[in-house]
Amino acid sequence: MALEERNCPYCKQQLTPWEAPPETWWGIILVCNNNECSYYVGSNCSITNKRDDSRLGTRYAEDPANNYQAFNLLSWCPF
Ligand SMILES: [Zn+2]
Repeated sequence: MALEERNCPYCKQQLTPWEAPPETWWGIILVCNNNECSYYVGSNCSITNKRDDSRLGTRYAEDPANNYQAFNLLSWCPF
């Protein structure tokens, strides 16, 4: 499948193709991997996983298999 080149609407960085784990059914998705992205920083990693105190943020992502629909990708915070 040919992927379009897409850019994050928040930080303008090119989205990076990422192969999601098989159990998610997402296949290849496009993710903004910019740690400075306002979308990611704005999610402020305030979601606390009660079980192990891990912090999660949300990255901007698009699903090529679903007409490049935008969605939130939960991601570990880099700190
Ligand atoms: Zn971004």
